[in-house]
Amino acid sequence: MSIEPIREESITMAKKPSVLITGASSGIGATYADRFARRGHDLVLVARDGPRMEAMAADLRRETGVAIDVLPADLTKPDELAAVEARLRDDDGIGILVNNAGASLGGRFVDQSTEGVAQLVALNVTAVLRLASAVAPRLAKAGEGAIINIGSVVGLAPELGLSVYGATKAFVLFLSQGLSLELGPKGVYVQAVLPSATRTEIWERSGADVNSLSAVMEVGELVDAALVGFDRREPVTIPPLPDAADWDAYQSARRAMLPGFAQVHAAERYRTGA
Ligand code: NAP
Repeated sequence: MSIEPIREESITMAKKPSVLITGASSGIGATYADRFARRGHDLVLVARDGPRMEAMAADLRRETGVAIDVLPADLTKPDELAAVEARLRDDDGIGILVNNAGASLGGRFVDQSTEGVAQLVALNVTAVLRLASAVAPRLAKAGEGAIINIGSVVGLAPELGLSVYGATKAFVLFLSQGLSLELGPKGVYVQAVLPSATRTEIWERSGADVNSLSAVMEVGELVDAALVGFDRREPVTIPPLPDAADWDAYQSARRAMLPGFAQVHAAERYRTGA
């Protein structure tokens, strides 16, 4: 029996997938960039502020040695969004998408402009959807990869009075849960991350004072916790939720309703008695 010599390529570590992060110029996205670079992943950074990302990238390249591309884009502008979609579709090296870019909007619904709420949906919903749609078929075909979508606990809480922002985040959660069910069996991991108040620029950008809040998480702690959920392949990660059983109970209550939706007649309480 002859013994095959071990081929060098078989003992070379497989290259880690590149990570495309939107909203990478500050806050949660910049922190994901830092953490994935330190894990040895090459990066593609997307946001509007190119010079700010270039400065970040120069530091991270020096500190970690990973390759970093900066792709400035306003994700509310269809042609600039299309360029990011094309990168996700065509670059086989990208195996992880962090759909993080997002904004909030101050004021109550009747005071927010129609244009303002539509812009919020363009960034928080349409861009998230189009980028996931651009990358998912390639990942599914490869049978590996991950999509991380940044939602918010606000998407679970209409009581907070941030109706449009919360609605965009409810969309992100639902989309993530649906994609997780569809793509998980094909080898693609989909995670929804639901932060609560976290110290980033999002507050001042929307005219709010973060220091007026009773509890604010530091961004490093938030992202490190989200990455614990990522490494565990959790479909939904809520870093501030003290008891995971509360989320499980919520999901069980929702699922318990599903069989009852298949009905030929309206429920007794809606019958007109004709
Ligand atoms: P942030 O520091 O304001 O970061 C937002 C990022 O999105 C920035 O990199 C910004 O960069 C980018 N961005 C904004 N508008 C954009 C556009 N039109 N096109 C492309 N990029 C754009 O806020 P953050 O807290 O880290 O927010 C990240 C995500 O976390 C958001 O989806 C947010 O809803 C979610 N979240 C935050 C909190 C919180 O309390 N901080 C809580 C729950 C969920 P440029 O200005 O350079 O474009």
